[in-house]
This record gives sequence, C-alpha cells and structure tokens, in this order.
Amino acid sequence: MTRANDRRLRPTLTVMRHATGASAAQVFEHVRSHRIASRDDIAVRTGLSIATVGRTVTAMVEAGLLRESEAAVRPGATGRPGVRVEVDTERHAVIGFHLGAERATVALSDLTGAVLAHGTVGHPVARRPDLEQLSRAAATLLGRLSSREPVSVGVVGDWVSLGLDSFDVAAEVREVTGLPVRAADHIAATAAADFLHRANGAVGTALYVYGADSFGITTTVDRTERVELHRSLSLEHFPHPFPSDSGPLCSCGRSGCLTALAGDEALARHLFHRRAIEAPRVASVYESAGDPVVLAELRHRARALGHVAALARDIMMTPDAITDRVVLIGRAFTACAEVRDDIIAAYREFSATVAVPVEFGWADASDAIVACTAGLAPVIEDPMAVAPGAPSRRGEHRLSASRTNAGPAAVVRPLAARRASA
Ligand SMILES: [Zn+2]
Repeated sequence: MTRANDRRLRPTLTVMRHATGASAAQVFEHVRSHRIASRDDIAVRTGLSIATVGRTVTAMVEAGLLRESEAAVRPGATGRPGVRVEVDTERHAVIGFHLGAERATVALSDLTGAVLAHGTVGHPVARRPDLEQLSRAAATLLGRLSSREPVSVGVVGDWVSLGLDSFDVAAEVREVTGLPVRAADHIAATAAADFLHRANGAVGTALYVYGADSFGITTTVDRTERVELHRSLSLEHFPHPFPSDSGPLCSCGRSGCLTALAGDEALARHLFHRRAIEAPRVASVYESAGDPVVLAELRHRARALGHVAALARDIMMTPDAITDRVVLIGRAFTACAEVRDDIIAAYREFSATVAVPVEFGWADASDAIVACTAGLAPVIEDPMAVAPGAPSRRGEHRLSASRTNAGPAAVVRPLAARRASA
C-alpha cells in the first residue's frame, strides 16, 4: 500500500483517553471532556505519573492550550496538584471551511470547538471553491478577534458530489494557510461534532445514520481508552423503501435512489412543484412544517427515513461489529420535531432483529460547528504539535492581516445566528 493510500484510510478523528498516544493528547482529552480537572485527577484517570502530568500541563499552559482555572482550588488538596486546569479558550483559534455546492462557510472556533465567528462566501455552482479567497475570509474574521493565533484548519465537504479530491484540497489549504489541515467527509464530520459536543463517554459502537441533501452512515468505536470515528459510507443510491414511478431520475440515471427521492433538495423541489412552498429552498420546507400539505410530505419521508435507518442498522449488525446504539443526525432526521415519532415507529417496525436503542443527534450541529470540529482533530490528536513554535509547525501561518489587504477583499457575509437549513 502506498503512503498516500494509507493516509486515505486514516479515521476522521481519533480520541486517546489513556495508555496510548502522546501524553499531551491524553491530558487534553481528559480536560476537554471534563471541562475542568486537577493534575492528580488527570494522573488517576489517564494512568500517567503525577510527574509526567505536571510537566505536560506546564508545557501546555505555556503553549496556550490549557490555563489554570479561576474556579476554587479543589477542597482537601494542597499545593499545585490541587489547582485545576481547563482548555485555554482565549489564545488560539481553529479555522473551519465547509464547502457546499453554491457557497462555503468559513468559521473560527476556540479550542473547545465553540464557534466564535462565521460567515459565508458564495461561488457559482459547479465551480471549484476558491481556497485563496476562503483563506482571506478566515484572515478577515481573525482580524476581528484580538490577537488569536490560528493553530489548524478543518475542510469539510461532500467530496464525491463536489467532484473534489479531499487530499488535493487539504494539500492546497495547507499551502495557502501554512497550518496543519484535516479534510473530512461531511457525514463523518457531522458525527464527530455530535460525538465531541454532546455524547461524551458512551462506550461501545454507535452507528450514525445521516440524512440531509445526501444520506450515509458512519460508525464510532469507543474502546474506552481510544475512540475512532471512521470514514463514512454513502447511501445516496440506496433504494428508497417506497419508490414511486413518477419520481425524479437520480444523477446516476436510475429512478428510485434515496437522495433523488428523499433528499432535502428533492423534497423542496417537489413541494415547490406542488405549490406548497413559495420557493424551492430547503429552509422553506422546515419553516412551513405547520402547513398540512408540507407536514404530510415530511411524515411520509419520515417513515422512509426510519425504514432506511433500520436497514442500515441490520446491514451493520455483524458478529464482529455489534452496534450498541443508533444515532440519527442531519437535518432530515433532526430539523422537524413533529415527525420524530414517525421516524422511530418506522425504525422499530422495519428492524429485522431486536432494535438497538435509537436516539436523535444534535440538531444544532451547523456547518460552522462541523467544519471547526474537523479542524480540532489535529489539536485533539497531538496538541503540542500544532502549538505555535512547535518543530512540526514549519514556520509561521500565512493568515496575517497584511495578507488580507494584499488581494481583493473577501466577501464575508455573517450568517443568521440560528439556521434552520442549508
Ligand atoms: Zn442514483
């Protein structure tokens, strides 16, 4: 296997809890997932010696990755080991690019993945996103936040639909920004955002079923000491469970494919054609869920989605890959609360064997959050390697304010605070 192919098989995100990986990665993961921790708690939970934890925490505080908490010292403890530390959310920024067919989202987060600023950059459909322009947009956003140092970049997209090679894009972003880059498939990155922000510490194997403009599945394997979020499998051309003869043709030339019939964009076009919504926009579908015609279509699709989730779960239920729970993510599953019961009922009805617990993922996982989560991956996997000044950083980043002024100003339009759709 060539080195390039080997890199392609790397999980989207690997979280190290103890026994393996760099000590800084173990310390960062413990502090990140617990929000605040003392040095002796970290030593007990990771299995690292108190001396190693002390040295590692000191280096990470100096690097701006952690800071000593202003919260009260843990009662009963004396000296430094009792002083608690938390993730430093002031000194660094993670950059996220989410590439869509018509526009890209550019976002900045702190080292916990909390989004600090975001905007969109439009580009014509079917034209390759201008990564230089996106980098200038990131520099513009950085310029508005006082003296934060960028540490890494995440680039997320539906690579197959965009017709892009994620590794070419990552290499170009690395060249343009001078920063470590993680490219991730949009489905795996959405699952990673759900996992990191919402579902900490659920041991076992979770099957994430994603539905929005496209459909797919991805798995997380949580072995306590190590969690891997794998690359995703597409369900785009999976057969729709209730196909109709009059449905639109798929891009593959066949009829009956899941995305062509049940994707968000397909639903918006269908409802617009029926004059149930005023514009063929995905946002209009969810905003009009109170309309009986729209709700009936959403409920019909909800049954199909529940059925697909049951089939996906049956496919993944092999003896060596027991699925402990199913998590439904993406707008098609999470955006309309009125149809959640229909999804669950169909999931239970169509499961061939005993249905494993099913839950809905985080409905607020926006494109900005998902992109920044991918950008956090290099930080989580090896925090000291991305810190400014680390030997592996190979010099300065290229996102200074002076560079922002060198080219045509990037158009950064702030997004509405809360987004119902794409
Ligand atoms: Zn198809």
